[in-house]
Amino acid sequence: MQNFPGVGVSPGRIIGTIRQMPKPISEPPAGDPLGADTTAEEATASLKAAATAVHDELRSRAATASGDGKAVLEATALMAKDTMLLKGASKLIARGTSAQRAIWESGASVSEMLHNLGGYMAERATDVLDVRARIVAELRGVPAPGIPTAAAPFILVAEDLAPADTATLDPEKVLALVTSGGGPQSHTAIIARSLGLPAVVAAAKVDELADGTEVYVDGAAGTISVEPDAEQRAAAEAWASNASLLAVFDGTGTTADGHLVPLLANVGGGKDAVAAAKLNAQGVGLFRTEFCFLERDTEPTVDEQAAAYKSVFDAFPGKKVVLRTLDAGADKPLPFLTDATEPNPALGVRGYRTDFTTPGVLERQLQAIARAEQESEADVWVMAPMISTAEEAAHFAGMCTAAGIKTPGVMVEVPSAALTAEAILREVGFASLGTNDLTQYAMAADRQLGPLANLNTPWQPAVLRLVGLTVEGSAAEGNAKPVGVCGEAAADPALAVVLTGLGVTTLSMTARSLAAVAAVLKTVTLAEAQELAKLALSAPNATDARAWVRAKLPILEELGL
Ligand code: PEP
Ligand code: MG
Repeated sequence: MQNFPGVGVSPGRIIGTIRQMPKPISEPPAGDPLGADTTAEEATASLKAAATAVHDELRSRAATASGDGKAVLEATALMAKDTMLLKGASKLIARGTSAQRAIWESGASVSEMLHNLGGYMAERATDVLDVRARIVAELRGVPAPGIPTAAAPFILVAEDLAPADTATLDPEKVLALVTSGGGPQSHTAIIARSLGLPAVVAAAKVDELADGTEVYVDGAAGTISVEPDAEQRAAAEAWASNASLLAVFDGTGTTADGHLVPLLANVGGGKDAVAAAKLNAQGVGLFRTEFCFLERDTEPTVDEQAAAYKSVFDAFPGKKVVLRTLDAGADKPLPFLTDATEPNPALGVRGYRTDFTTPGVLERQLQAIARAEQESEADVWVMAPMISTAEEAAHFAGMCTAAGIKTPGVMVEVPSAALTAEAILREVGFASLGTNDLTQYAMAADRQLGPLANLNTPWQPAVLRLVGLTVEGSAAEGNAKPVGVCGEAAADPALAVVLTGLGVTTLSMTARSLAAVAAVLKTVTLAEAQELAKLALSAPNATDARAWVRAKLPILEELGL
């Protein structure tokens, strides 16, 4: 049996035949000149027509897509009309370059510029290259690159998936996603999780398999096997029969002995919140407010902000909604708030720190939150990202009180905050552990880098200890404050048990993960979760911590998680 190991990014065990994505559009030769019988005006006109056709096609696909897919398609469609992209190409055409070569080069320079900006903008660099390939395909009169069509559902295999492709994935037609490139933070991974499709990324050479090959995919273990054996067939059948169990969260996060651990959703705006409420999330544990304004060059007005926040609050009347103030900077730059030239943005002026350099924005955001809260029935809690000291926590709490916000809190994502949690928690009403950043800062490992994936896991003993220290800070005399987790760690069912054992009071995650976490949590008592937390803390490294805990949770294997 031939195996292709990769990184599992979305659980599920499935057997199916594969379809490869069409090979990418080839590069037009360097120096490709305008044809002898074509004028620069004609070439520019045909380029514009091709760009418009691509724009229109993406727009019409957006019209029938929904959720994340729709937003990605709309953003990509806009890129096809990007003035910088088209002007750059027109200039090259005027100097005698063919339309295909001109858009190719212009796309490369726009993409490089975005890439150099880093963070969110760097992710958009791929969108430009995708749009460029589509325009060249249109100019050549060949089919646009994209998801193959087939009558029967298939496992989609690709080198990596472009946003516009992942966005139009029909989950009825695609059984699983497998890529030879990409990483856990790639678009492939994010879309797969939000669609609930099993997915494995970074499985080298899998893009060389022939169409129609039958394979077994295990999205938790991160493996692909050709010619599945009897055991794998049984595992895939078991997954299929458990699928309904993992699709529905009954709305109460609890251990086997009734210790309640509310399971909340991470959302980026009103649409996410409505979807999370449908999946029975017990509230919102992290509303990433900067996601509402990533495209903005200017600060949104108080009215605009209040409307955006209210759309989330309204999805959870009477329920807790934890809103985090703008976490601008590093991987989430906001042009009106962050300095794109910082040499080391992850350690720079990000999150709460933007109040040092751009005072007023945070104050106005708090006013907008307070206004939205007054007009809604949600129980609104507000936390600041990137708090490092008790003084900062006190300052933020003071700002919240001045704005009329009742429950101020902090995110614990910097090791100094975990180490001084007791002092910090004396200043505010709650803390929420952002384990994604806490891990990158504890391990000094950029969370976006694939080659550092082994360091960058919340199973690291150092990270688990920081979680434990934060909880201890809340256990000090007269300091009983809730401490939740809202990083990706909460969505890992085995780690969710460990976090519960460490004393974390709520877990917040992508809504699709709620059912799996709930199903595993209710198989252990609180005392057992505490034992597993001790076991994880005693492990010499992250790999053993994960393996030891998983070995004690047979339900994971049963459910294919
Ligand atoms: C985190 O850092 O864990 C977190 C929840 O915030 P973000 O991933 O948005 O930085
Ligand atoms: Mg963070």
